[in-house]
Amino acid sequence: MHFYKILFITLIATALLTLDGCSQSNFDSDEMKKHAERLKEISSFQYPLENYFPETPVTDEDPPTTERGELHHAAEDSYASAGTPVCAIGDGIISYSGKRPGYGWLVIIDHPVENVYSLYGHLSTSRWKKGSGKVKKGELIGYLGDPGECYTMRSHIHFGLRMGQRADYPSWGWEEARWTAGYTNSRPELLGWFCPSQIIGQTDSIRTWHKYIQKREVIVNERSLHASDFKITSGRYNEKEDLDQIIRKEFCEDYRLADWNDISTLSKNIEEWADSVGFVESGEENALLISNDGYRIWLGRQYFISRFNHSKPEHFLEHNSIDSNFVCLGSWYGLNKHILAVKK
Ligand SMILES: [Zn+2]
Repeated sequence: MHFYKILFITLIATALLTLDGCSQSNFDSDEMKKHAERLKEISSFQYPLENYFPETPVTDEDPPTTERGELHHAAEDSYASAGTPVCAIGDGIISYSGKRPGYGWLVIIDHPVENVYSLYGHLSTSRWKKGSGKVKKGELIGYLGDPGECYTMRSHIHFGLRMGQRADYPSWGWEEARWTAGYTNSRPELLGWFCPSQIIGQTDSIRTWHKYIQKREVIVNERSLHASDFKITSGRYNEKEDLDQIIRKEFCEDYRLADWNDISTLSKNIEEWADSVGFVESGEENALLISNDGYRIWLGRQYFISRFNHSKPEHFLEHNSIDSNFVCLGSWYGLNKHILAVKK
């Protein structure tokens, strides 16, 4: 009896200390860095999506330069279509699974061994989801939701990784300390949030890809181009590869990824151009990867062009078109296509 009494007092004291530590938000950068290093060494985690490419990172600068103005983004956003399976990143216990304003369905998993919790936001409220209990690494916990049910413009996961367990943080009150906090006033690092992809690996490939979704140099669209200035790669490549490097390898330094602006200059001779460059009809199947006004990606989707010879399928939502849908500009996820290159 006496033993349990002491244990109980010890537990309460520990809980109070932990709560006190968190409410003060004493996550100094050194402590976070050390914990991050340790996590990287022992990491038994995987990404929550099969194709995880966080386009919106955790804000690390102060003041932030996010689309949400003054606020810092406390997690990473990776875009994928609604219905994409979401998995537990590691062994743990579901400490929350429910509907939350701003999130749609939200799942939180405590990982006691690593002393972190993972947060999965914008899951589908209407599809199946795991409600409680233990989970194994890679176990299905739910699906990405449709924008309408998740308060998003495009389906994506808002994926956070935070020091401690869910119970270490308040469920209400001080907004940015809450265990559900998606955006914060202070640097997320000071509140215990990690940059997940820096701990879960594949960081290099993600950085490479990041570099290529940023805006390219200004595309000059006044120059006059000829069909002979364009080339199509012989191989098919995944959008996540380094397209410029591939172009240099297949052709030479004088070529770069073609842009919609380059093709627009050919509007009068588009059919002649398509025939001579070898851009055949059969719509989405023979699409070519390009950029649009310097950007390769639109909300997680890679730009491409398709030749429809004026008969565009009903379901195809084009961003733009030349000569009444002879050639259309589209965007989609996970493409494996030939690349259109142009002389610099
Ligand atoms: Zn987010």
